[in-house]
Amino acid sequence: MTQTEYKIYIDDVIRRVETARLQVSGHHIVKIVAVSKYSQASEIEKLYKIGQRAFGENKVQDLKTKSNELEELPLEWHFIGNLQKNKINNLLDINPTLFQALDSYELALELQKKLEAKGMILDCLLQVNSAKEESKHGFMPEETEEIYAKITANCKNINLKGLMSIGAHSEDSIVVKQSFQTTYKLYKTLPNATICSMGMSGDFELAIECGSNMIRLGSVMFNK
Ligand SMILES: *Cc1c(COP(=O)(O)O)cnc(C)c1O
Repeated sequence: MTQTEYKIYIDDVIRRVETARLQVSGHHIVKIVAVSKYSQASEIEKLYKIGQRAFGENKVQDLKTKSNELEELPLEWHFIGNLQKNKINNLLDINPTLFQALDSYELALELQKKLEAKGMILDCLLQVNSAKEESKHGFMPEETEEIYAKITANCKNINLKGLMSIGAHSEDSIVVKQSFQTTYKLYKTLPNATICSMGMSGDFELAIECGSNMIRLGSVMFNK
């Protein structure tokens, strides 16, 4: 798409987000993270030119390549994928704005060690496997509150800001909705949590309806 076509296309996405947002009582601002994992730096630049600032990648190597290619732009990078322990240093070298997928206590301890050694603080979200799916990473809903407190107490260089979850993999919107409601309910119990990241291209309106204040849009944002 050309820059002009992108502009018109994005208006429609923003309109959908806004319509969903306005249906929630006590309106809250919903932040869009444009997931660029299927897109090139040139496409990211097009979105940047119409005002998008936050982008997300799910592989450390891709994050590194694209953030390097676009380093002259004031972008905000989110890491949204599973982080292997041997990639922690690579991620920290990029110094992302938010690591959204902290999914095990062992990873938190390892991350804490490396952060402390580098004298860095990293904003993170705990990933919750709200629908308890085998195929997904993340903490079980019943353990999340306790682990959140444990990481807050023991990992001083990890700044927990809330939760991230992927909606249930189901055609049934009631099932998807239940998974979002589980995440939101947990989010509300956490002290000082400000980010509830849920909703992707196929289900963001439902996620917003359930209280999400950060949506991660890949295909719909880049028209893939
Ligand atoms: C790929 C991905 C997204 C975006 O997916 P779309 O369906 O393309 O919007 C969001 N969150 C995570 C964790 C992802 O891996």
